[in-house]
Amino acid sequence: MRTSNNEYGENGRLMNGYDYDRQAWVENGRYVCCGHPETMQCRCYGRLHEGEETVNNKGMTGVSNASLIIATSWARQAARRGK
Ligand SMILES: [Zn+2]
Repeated sequence: MRTSNNEYGENGRLMNGYDYDRQAWVENGRYVCCGHPETMQCRCYGRLHEGEETVNNKGMTGVSNASLIIATSWARQAARRGK
């Protein structure tokens, strides 16, 4: 099982960390530019989608991992609301 320091927000949205599916860094729930020099003319997701909000990815590969995280985050939220 792969471990990471990724932080997930409501509904399992990636808020801070690395989006492995899209190979892009995320800060405050938004994709950030890959940081490659512009001369590289790379097609990184982070460059093409810089500033876009992350989405809750469902129905994609790696769902088992993602849904586990979603389930965990929902359980945490439910526990918080219960107080
Ligand atoms: Zn790049």
